[in-house]
Amino acid sequence: MREFQSTLFEGGQRLVYDDAVEMTLQSMQAYGQQHDHWGIAWSGGKDSSAVLTLIVHLLDAGRLAPPKTLSVFYADTRQELPPLAIAAQLIMRQLAERNINLEIVTAPLDKRFLVYMLGRGVPPPNNNTLRWCTRQIKVDPMTDALAARIEELDSSILMITGVRQGESAVRDQRIAMSCGKDGAECGQGWYQQVLPNAKGIRGRIATLAPILHWRVCNVWDWLKIYAPMRDYGSWATASIADAYGGDEAAEIAARTGCIGCPLASRELALETILTNPDWYYLEPLQGLKQLYRELRLPQHRLRKPGAETLKDGTLAKNPQRMGPLTFDARLMALARIIAIQEAVNTSARNLGRPEIDILNAEEEARIRELISLETWPKGWTGSEPTADTPLDTVYGDGTVQPLMM
Ligand code: SF4
Repeated sequence: MREFQSTLFEGGQRLVYDDAVEMTLQSMQAYGQQHDHWGIAWSGGKDSSAVLTLIVHLLDAGRLAPPKTLSVFYADTRQELPPLAIAAQLIMRQLAERNINLEIVTAPLDKRFLVYMLGRGVPPPNNNTLRWCTRQIKVDPMTDALAARIEELDSSILMITGVRQGESAVRDQRIAMSCGKDGAECGQGWYQQVLPNAKGIRGRIATLAPILHWRVCNVWDWLKIYAPMRDYGSWATASIADAYGGDEAAEIAARTGCIGCPLASRELALETILTNPDWYYLEPLQGLKQLYRELRLPQHRLRKPGAETLKDGTLAKNPQRMGPLTFDARLMALARIIAIQEAVNTSARNLGRPEIDILNAEEEARIRELISLETWPKGWTGSEPTADTPLDTVYGDGTVQPLMM
């Protein structure tokens, strides 16, 4: 994309774009014009921020014919990395200045990451059996917001996503569902594949990934060099790079998502932010990942004592499975999260830096209320033993090996 700078003002003031942007423009011209209404699913991460600012720029510059309506849906999990959340706030202001319809999409209170985990007691998600988070805090709220928007419209909507797979994957025609390669964002593939078939909007939404072919260097060139320039919209996108490693962002290619994401083996994005002195005060956030790991341990959870009989009379395949978090574990985790947030915000106030908000008073009160109401996930009563209690071993066929004393 670097060649694009030398040709910036070629032909008078008419902006000239490199091949990657030209392909995006062509795909928008081909498919965008078939739809009266466009929506952009925006997470605040680099890919969706690139697609959002580029599309708005192309509209502003008159390179794309505007749709009848454009709606931007910002997916706010409340667990975003602070540099991304702050950049998103600035971009939201810029969208408001352009009178672009923006909706902040957040999961209902009881479904939010921390409330669901500590109020209802569902253990932190993992890669094997329990990845409840992406759908619940990103995809379902986006589906509901879109369904509500579609209700107001007279026709279908084209949902534009920042799914990006690089050139080889485009050749494969595959879009990964999970947090993809090359530093892709959590959730984007789900928007592309799950949204079109979601209940309530099936048949009324088309999706388009107009930067599918972009390499990570194209994204950085756009966010760090071009988008901040006046001719391309003066977008507040340069600081997004901080979350991915500043000048080294392209090489580091950190995957972003929730702070302390239990599904990521390493917290590369946060580790990278902390090497920047401006963000070092966020260091206590490293305690979140450690906490989520601890919460999966047997002493913090209940266990089914024996084989479970299912509704159809058969035995469940996983007897003695571990389940929800005990009340003590939930209160311990809540106290630690409050302490982490307070430590960060005390430093932020002393340093004149932005504060964080991953757990607000309403969420804390709801967690405490759900605990006081003795709330357990479906299928659990709270009478089960803790998972570190020695028990007879029960096998999948129902046979029992007594505990050796
Ligand atoms: S970033 Fe991690 S915790 Fe957040 S929704 Fe994605 S997989 Fe779940």
